Amino acid sequence: MNKTSVYEFCIIVPIYNEEENISRLEEELGRYLEAASVKACILFVDDGSKDNSLQGIIEICRKNPDFYYITFTHNNGLSAALKAGIDMAESPYTGYIDADLQTLPEDFERLLPFRRDYALVMGIRTGRKDSFGKRFSSLIANYFRRMMTHDGVEDTGCPLKVIRTDAAKRIPFFTGMHRFLPALIQLQNEKVKQVPVRHFERLKGISKFHLWNRLVSPFLDCFAYRWMRKRYINYTISADNLKEQE
Ligand code: UDP
Ligand code: MG
Repeated sequence: MNKTSVYEFCIIVPIYNEEENISRLEEELGRYLEAASVKACILFVDDGSKDNSLQGIIEICRKNPDFYYITFTHNNGLSAALKAGIDMAESPYTGYIDADLQTLPEDFERLLPFRRDYALVMGIRTGRKDSFGKRFSSLIANYFRRMMTHDGVEDTGCPLKVIRTDAAKRIPFFTGMHRFLPALIQLQNEKVKQVPVRHFERLKGISKFHLWNRLVSPFLDCFAYRWMRKRYINYTISADNLKEQE
């Protein structure tokens, strides 16, 4: 058991070289925790930042209750950061938001009402404030991924998600899996709900992804997903005597 177990909702915030966003994160996340409809905490995952992000995170966690962190020995990538967060989260629901605040924590309130009926509730970014190149590559990647996975998801990359923690812990993890979360959840015969959320410009810091890592690896991962779907193990237990009798 760790400290996240006393909350209903644990929000994972992956951080790699985001020092310029740290003070705004404290403000926006702190404001959200006060207003949230569920008892929530923040779990920063420092993905081996080389700037002063970690010092900033430690300071926030020292000053504020309900803020926790883990940090890696070195940079492992966004999928690994999310996996570590999910491995650690012991609240019934796990959230995900990016540190650049292109989506706002307040909008978790748009997703949370659906949490009991869907294993994954995710945003669809409306009025997307990204460059033409990014929106275009996203359009192609989404189209191809939908065609290959039939996940029916409009905006898989939206960095605002609520996942039932037990389903999250069963996701097959691999580098790049953060782009396939809905399809991977569907492997478990679980349902995904999509809800429109607001999108904002990245005001501070720089994007870590470029055309190459946005298109080529995800293209190959689509084939890996098809293979995995064929081989995925799903079973339903019809009876057992493992639990204590009432
Ligand atoms: N990130 C991370 N490890 C990495 C790269 C990125 O934890 O190796 C984090 C980053 O700090 C941010 C999120 O993942 O919180 C998404 O990254 P970014 O905003 O650069 O991606 P984009 O929105 O441009 O696709
Ligand atoms: Mg971003």
